[in-house]
Amino acid sequence: MTKVDEQLRGTPPAARSAPGKAEFVIASVRRDLLIDGVWSPARTGTTISTINPATEQVLTDVALADADDVDLAVRAARKAFDDGAWSALAPGERARMLWRIAELIDRDLDILAMLITLDNGKPLAEARGEAASAAEIFRYYSGWPTKLFGETNPANPGMMSMTLREPIGVCALIVPWNGPIASPAWKIAPALACGNTVVLKASEVTPLAALRLGDILLEAGVPPGVVNIVVGTGAVAGSALTSHAMVDKISFTGSTAVGMEIQRVAAATMKRVSLELGGKSACVVFDDADLENAVQSLAAGIFKNQGQLCIAASRMFVHERVHDAFADRLAQIAGAIRLGDPLDPQTTMGPLVSRTQYDRVLGYIAVGREQGGSVRAGGARGPQEVGYFVQPTVFAGMDNAMRVAREEIFGPVACLIPFRDEDDVVDQANDTTYGLAAGVFTRDLSRAHRVSRRLKAGSVWVNTYNAVSPIAPFGGFKQSGVGRELGRYGLDAYTEIKTIAIKL
Ligand code: NAD
Repeated sequence: MTKVDEQLRGTPPAARSAPGKAEFVIASVRRDLLIDGVWSPARTGTTISTINPATEQVLTDVALADADDVDLAVRAARKAFDDGAWSALAPGERARMLWRIAELIDRDLDILAMLITLDNGKPLAEARGEAASAAEIFRYYSGWPTKLFGETNPANPGMMSMTLREPIGVCALIVPWNGPIASPAWKIAPALACGNTVVLKASEVTPLAALRLGDILLEAGVPPGVVNIVVGTGAVAGSALTSHAMVDKISFTGSTAVGMEIQRVAAATMKRVSLELGGKSACVVFDDADLENAVQSLAAGIFKNQGQLCIAASRMFVHERVHDAFADRLAQIAGAIRLGDPLDPQTTMGPLVSRTQYDRVLGYIAVGREQGGSVRAGGARGPQEVGYFVQPTVFAGMDNAMRVAREEIFGPVACLIPFRDEDDVVDQANDTTYGLAAGVFTRDLSRAHRVSRRLKAGSVWVNTYNAVSPIAPFGGFKQSGVGRELGRYGLDAYTEIKTIAIKL
């Protein structure tokens, strides 16, 4: 029995049906801003509707922050940082609290999964996986407060010279809609582990799971002001955060265009900036690869989350000898995907997140056709009368110069490009402004090493794809970002190194 079922025990059968459960979960979620440990409406009383992309119906209305609300949130975070309410807490205490947050996320997996599915459209099993991964991030970073060591160094024989790793201060965390709880977790967990205080600006498109996370943080005992959560638009709340004088650090995940704007704004006050931006991954399948493994890995790589992933396996370079067989098998897998109601356990692909995203992806499919792409699967909207459903689509025999191979589509559209030899494919793979992730499929160990080193990407996965782990650093080369999240390197984004030299 799931957590939601448990809570619904004793209610009328209608409440226990899938729509009944959804209503119950929506009714349980906060609709306010979390500022200084208290949930309160926006000062102007403004709200924004969040839409279920499977039904195009309003799920609920949540408070929409403006610059004044953001100012209150930043001041609360500033005060909590300067008071030492969090940074001066014994590291073991911070560790225990982060672990407790992980346990509470695990306890609420069903509720969080349903909120993610309703708000974002990804199938329930995927949403559950995302929520479980958020718990893992908190669990991983709970190990770090007690291990933030400095060093002694031999700078001068007459001195005791050493380093300390200190928190940066108030961190503005800005996240997109494609990982409604994973993205906040990737930022909040390391920021708190290092002793910072934060203002999270949740996505205005999918705010519900982040709001639920706010309740979890309070229940875990995170002191007032240490984590503040606002929902707001990028133009108003986002830019109020990035230009606020009391913010020391910005950690942003989103589009490259907005990342560039944030860097410009942050330069005025020299805020520290970490950016996780767009991608156009190159996945290279050699003719000696285990083809079934390659096609299964890359099908998941491009169709998971309806292709709305920065690391989506969007460019598949397939050796010309196996290109057609690969295309046929990928088309078969795409054709077998069950596109539909994401709350139905049989569904393997849900709708895109919004009307904007739906129009964008269908627009790119049209461009692909116009430029002569051969559609091997999908290529159209789903058969549903309502909802932002787009069929999983496979374009074969493409060219790396085509727009669909150059621009980030952020949808379930695979672009297969045949190649002849290793040098040629490495050049083509690197011929992009992005550099987030890449894949290599081959049975030749030397080639696997050689090509992995030559690909300009922050993560290269060999004979697998999307092997993201809390323990391994993640981030982009080139215009895919600045800095790294996750793992030990993720701590660098949330700490300053101080040198202290004492004359002996
Ligand atoms: P987006 O850039 O439009 O918005 C991201 C966030 O920034 C949202 O919260 C938005 O409100 C806010 N924002 C927008 N304009 C702002 C401004 N001027 N100042 C401050 N904040 C602002 O991106 P999106 O459409 O929400 O998400 C899709 C994009 O995110 C894709 O490009 C995708 O590749 C990228 N992404 C990257 C990663 C990664 O780890 N590299 C992960 C997920 C998504």
